[in-house]
Amino acid sequence: MVLNTSAVNTEADWVARSLRSVWHPCTQMQHHETLPLVPVSRGKGVWLYDHEGRRYLDGISSWWVNLFGHANPRINAALTDQLGLLEHAMLAGFTHDPVVKLSERLSDLTGNVLGHCFYASDGASAVEIALKMSFHFWRNSGQPQKREFVCLRGGYHGETIGALSVTDIPLFKDAYGPLIRQAHVAPSPDARGAQPGESPADVARHAIAGLEALLDQHAGKIAAVIVEPLVQCAIGMAMHDPVYLAELRRVCDANQVHMIADEIAVGCGRTGTFFACEQANVWPDFLCLSKGISGGYLPLSLVMTREHIFQAFYDKDVTRGFLHSHSYTGNPLACRAALATLDIFDEDDVLTGNRQRAARLTQALQPVAQHPSVRHFRNRGMIWAFDVVCDTPVQHASFSRRFFTAGLRHELLLRPIGNTVYLMPPYVLDDDEIEHLASRTRVVLEEVMAAA
Ligand SMILES: *Cc1c(COP(=O)(O)O)cnc(C)c1O
Repeated sequence: MVLNTSAVNTEADWVARSLRSVWHPCTQMQHHETLPLVPVSRGKGVWLYDHEGRRYLDGISSWWVNLFGHANPRINAALTDQLGLLEHAMLAGFTHDPVVKLSERLSDLTGNVLGHCFYASDGASAVEIALKMSFHFWRNSGQPQKREFVCLRGGYHGETIGALSVTDIPLFKDAYGPLIRQAHVAPSPDARGAQPGESPADVARHAIAGLEALLDQHAGKIAAVIVEPLVQCAIGMAMHDPVYLAELRRVCDANQVHMIADEIAVGCGRTGTFFACEQANVWPDFLCLSKGISGGYLPLSLVMTREHIFQAFYDKDVTRGFLHSHSYTGNPLACRAALATLDIFDEDDVLTGNRQRAARLTQALQPVAQHPSVRHFRNRGMIWAFDVVCDTPVQHASFSRRFFTAGLRHELLLRPIGNTVYLMPPYVLDDDEIEHLASRTRVVLEEVMAAA
C-alpha cells in the first residue's frame, strides 16, 4: 500500500492524528482542546523545529534528558558505528564491549566505591531495582524485618507502583493510593523553608533532626532512605544545602540504614559536579542514574552499588542472587550513546564550561529575578528556578499552561511546574542562545502577568 504522505504532512494533520492515536504522558488529554500540541519534525543543538520551520529553544532539555543538544554529531557517529556492530544482545549469560566499558568508566568516576552497575531502561525501573536490592540485601543478611523505606516530603522517584510508594507528590499518587505501600515521609531540607535569620544549612539540619527522630523509632524495620540529592526537581526545583547529604550519610550509618541517591535528574553534571553527591563528599549505598546518561538519546538507567552489597548476593544458592531483569537490560546502542556522552565530558571539559555558561545566564536573568512577582530566584549548576506570585487562585491554577503557551509564541519551550518556572537547558548554549533564553523568559513572564 502506498500512501501519498506529502498530502497529509501538514502541521494540523499531525496534531489531529496524534490526538486520535497517541495517549500522551502526564497529560489530561482533554486539555488539548485548548492547549497546543507541538509536532516536532527535527532537532539541532538547543533547537526543536516544527514542520513549518518554527523553532523552539529547548529550555528544559526535553524533560531533563538532553545534555549536548539534539542531533549531536559525536553521539550520532558513535551510534552509527555501533549499529554496524551490534544492536542488542541479552545481558544474562552474555556481555559486550559497550556495557563493560560504561560500567568501568562510571565506577572510575566514583573512585571505584560504587563498582557494580546493574542496568535497566527507565528511571523508575532503576528506583525499583534500588529498593528491591536494599530489601534483599537485608534479607540475605538475616534481617528480613528491614522492609520499609523513608522518602522526603515532596520527593519524586518515578511512577511505577514501587516508585510511587516513595514519591510524595499527591497529583501523581493519590489516584493509586489503594495500590501503594506508603513509605515513611521525612521533612524536606528545601531551603525556601528558612525562617528569618536561618541559613539553608540550618534548614538542612532541622530536616535531619526530623529524620533522626523517625529513625530512632523505626530504624529496625527500615531498609533505606531515598533522596534526590541537592535538587528535588519534580516538586518544583526545591534546592537544599549539601550539608544535608553529609548529615544523611552519617545518620544512615549510625542507624544501619541504606542511603539511596536518586541522581536520575541531578546526575551527569546537572548540579555542577558529575554526581550531585560529590558536593557533600559522600557516596551513597545505591546511586540511580538515567535521563542524561545517554545524552538524551535512548532509554538507559542503572544502579551503582558497593562491593559489600554485591557480596551479600554472591553465593551458590540461586535465590540469594538478584534475579531482576528487563528485556533491554544494558542495550549496546544505549550504552554506546552513554560512552559518547562521557567522551564529550572529558574532551570538552564540560563542567568548567558550564560554570561560565551558568554565570552568564544567571547574569542575563537578573531582570527576571528582580521582577515584582518573582520569589525565591535560585540556581544550582545548570538549573534555574523561580516562583511566581499570582493575584488570584484562578490565575494561579492556569499559570503553567498560560506560560507554556506564551513561551511557544516566543520560540521558547518552558513548562512550569505549578507556579514555579524553571530552566534546565542543554550544556551547549552559546552566548546568543543564553541571551534568547533569558530575554524571552522575561518577555513571556511580563506578557503572562499583564494578561492576568
Ligand atoms: C524522571 C525521574 C525519575 C523517573 O525516571 P523515568 O525515566 O521517567 O521513569 C525518577 N527519579 C527522578 C529524580 C526523576 O527526575
